[in-house]
Amino acid sequence: MSDQAFYSGLQQKLDTLKTEGLFKPERVLASRQGAEVVADDGRTLINMCANNYLGLSGDIETQKAAEAALQKYGYGLSSVRFICGTQTVHKELEKKLSEFLGTEDTILYAAAFDANGGVFEPLFDENDAIISDALNHASIIDGVRLCKAARYRYANNDMADLEKQLQAATEAGKRHKIIVTDGVFSMDGTIAQLDRIVALAEKYGALTMIDESHASGFMGRTGRGTHEHCGVIGKIDIITGTLGKALGGAMGGFTSGRKEVIETLRQKSRPYLFSNTLAPMIAGASLAVLDRISKSTELRDRLHENTAHFRREIERIGFTIKPGTHPVVPVMLFEAPVAQKFAARMFELGVLLSGFFYPVVPMGQARVRVQLSAAHTREQLDKVLGAFEQAGRELGIIKAA
Ligand SMILES: *Cc1c(COP(=O)(O)O)cnc(C)c1O
Repeated sequence: MSDQAFYSGLQQKLDTLKTEGLFKPERVLASRQGAEVVADDGRTLINMCANNYLGLSGDIETQKAAEAALQKYGYGLSSVRFICGTQTVHKELEKKLSEFLGTEDTILYAAAFDANGGVFEPLFDENDAIISDALNHASIIDGVRLCKAARYRYANNDMADLEKQLQAATEAGKRHKIIVTDGVFSMDGTIAQLDRIVALAEKYGALTMIDESHASGFMGRTGRGTHEHCGVIGKIDIITGTLGKALGGAMGGFTSGRKEVIETLRQKSRPYLFSNTLAPMIAGASLAVLDRISKSTELRDRLHENTAHFRREIERIGFTIKPGTHPVVPVMLFEAPVAQKFAARMFELGVLLSGFFYPVVPMGQARVRVQLSAAHTREQLDKVLGAFEQAGRELGIIKAA
């Protein structure tokens, strides 16, 4: 406690964040997660900013499955997996995830952040090349940094640039090349062109990896993910994803692929070897979630109906959105102060959503991001659309009818 300059330096940087409008305050909820939440001031808000795509986070069936696993397996393991932290429920979940994703084997992590952080270093070294989309998630960027492989970056979703980078890595004589992309990019709801990526991988003898955090459980006809959506099941080498979004929403992550890859990660992946086992109640609840969404596409269908309804109506009212089909719907407001004012007004009108502006998105591309859920009712969505219309007129973003 003798270095006061350290603390005053931190305080100065925090103050700068606040004056620049980049400080991130935390919303405090007094209720469980869901289509409606209660704020700590007692107000009820319609929640349009959770990754709760299938509505399973605050869901009672998910909770009961977690309670059953809690009863059977207890609260925790106080161990990493390889010492005494593996229970039957963890093995069952790994098997079920592999079946669901169409892979050979799966390894669980405490978070997708850890899955991505621990996937590259054990598998690739300075002889290899990682070819990564420019907008990939922070955890992929960090994972790549921890690995000695050469790094190549291609412009977001730009297949011509990807091919250029593949050529560069080939000319550099790299032994193994792996193309890495988010299956879905969460800022824009952009879906990676996996059919074209797989074709390029075949042309250049490269491996492929996708992060399915915004896809597992609801993309593709049976919800397996972006690889199903793009018709390339069985053609992706490595799949990472989270249990903390659509697949229940608590926490946990996974890496899935060929058995040689998963076995190597169990031996060498540092976030797996040196961090605690996923809590058994999360493993149990995730199993129940996979069972539920494998038996019926009801939740997925409702999510996509809600998404189509919202996308259609918000454009009819007069807002500009990024075109697409994903339940992430960026409503473009372009200027940062407008996005800030708009999100604040929506909050007053009882709608929780988040505004994004530079440097999170490019300059002049400020927006509010709406995320649809299977849990939203039509009435709730129509209320939200009404609030959009009112706030849009008040702020002069859309014309009065
Ligand atoms: C949310 C997210 C993660 C991190 O998931 P956690 O399980 O919460 O660590 C990783 N990758 C992508 C693309 C994400 O959207």
